[in-house]
Amino acid sequence: MVRETKFYDLLEVPPTASESELKKAYRKKALRLHPDKGGDPELFKEVTHAYEILSDPDKRSIYDARGEAGLSEQGGMGGMDPQDLFSQLFGGGGFGGGGGFFGGGGGGSRNQGPRKTKDLVHRVHVTLEDLYKGKVTKLALTRNRICSKCKGKGGKEGAVRSCNTCSGRGIKVTLRQMGPMIQQIQSPCDECSGTGEIINAKDRCVQCKGKKVMPEKKFLEVHIDKGMKSGQTIQFRGESDESPTAEPGDVVIVVEEKPHERFKRQENDLITEVDVDLLTALGGGQFAIKHLDDRALIVKLEPGEVVKHGDLKVIHGQGMPSQRHHEPGDMYIKLTVHFPESIDPAAIPMLEKALAPRKPIETFAKNIVLDEVSLDDVDTRSRGGMRDDDRMEEDGDEPRVQCANQ
Ligand SMILES: [Zn+2]
Ligand SMILES: [Zn+2]
Repeated sequence: MVRETKFYDLLEVPPTASESELKKAYRKKALRLHPDKGGDPELFKEVTHAYEILSDPDKRSIYDARGEAGLSEQGGMGGMDPQDLFSQLFGGGGFGGGGGFFGGGGGGSRNQGPRKTKDLVHRVHVTLEDLYKGKVTKLALTRNRICSKCKGKGGKEGAVRSCNTCSGRGIKVTLRQMGPMIQQIQSPCDECSGTGEIINAKDRCVQCKGKKVMPEKKFLEVHIDKGMKSGQTIQFRGESDESPTAEPGDVVIVVEEKPHERFKRQENDLITEVDVDLLTALGGGQFAIKHLDDRALIVKLEPGEVVKHGDLKVIHGQGMPSQRHHEPGDMYIKLTVHFPESIDPAAIPMLEKALAPRKPIETFAKNIVLDEVSLDDVDTRSRGGMRDDDRMEEDGDEPRVQCANQ
């Protein structure tokens, strides 16, 4: 069940719509509503925003579960420029031949927004256990905030003057004659250290020393959702550095899954290896698999049902939860059968009783000589020896004693 249907309604699709249905619906609506075609720009923006959310599986699941309010908690609002998304979806100047549909032609429109300070990207390494159960972790970060004392002015009212040396540009341009050419060199202005402003020492804000910003420590609560995957990001809008001249960028948390000693993950499935002894493999028994939460799975092998070395089995519903509806994947188990090193010869008649009779030996024509040989273990040393023998044979200066021995 979805909580709100506004975004679906905007695209005129049911909440069960597939990705391709969404794309088709957006394409149809966007073509009709595009401002270049006389559509309502506000509605175009809304429809584009709805598509931007619903076409992103993560954002869609947040929207389905918690509605629009859930998205703004996650900082999911804002986002791409509608024109950008539109060009991305329809391949830039793909319309109307020569003039193109977009007038200005795509590209570079991302820079039109307000200048932003750099995003702070932080990787969190998360165990498979945490991704299975979900986890809330606190992250401490230090970033610049506008100085509370001078409100980002750097000093008293009127104390800040534009730098005369660089005319407030913060850069100094020097010309240098290089042979026949004149080279233009840009460097930060020494007078104002590249800020373009001068504040007399005595008028500087005592709190930030004229820097306008102060480092501040903040704890962010990072929600690692059940079923998240490596590479997924969690965004905190506007939590990067503040600056008097730019909008704050975002803090972006990148989830990284730590390798697990017992499980491999493949999408939402888990893969593990289990050793069973030969008696269990043949005669039934049980084994346990410690799961990623506080459970252990007890697997019973019925007597009479033989497990073979290398068998792949599955336990349905014991994989990772999907992020969207927490539907679990499966757990695959590769079984390794451990054979004993030796067996008491007295027990062999019992095996003969239990197992199928031995496969009879192949028979040969009368002219084939039957030669009884012994079976030795192969180790690297004896293999090296064989190679030595080969070499000697090739050299041909030794009598072929080895052959005669056999
Ligand atoms: Zn200050
Ligand atoms: Zn200057």
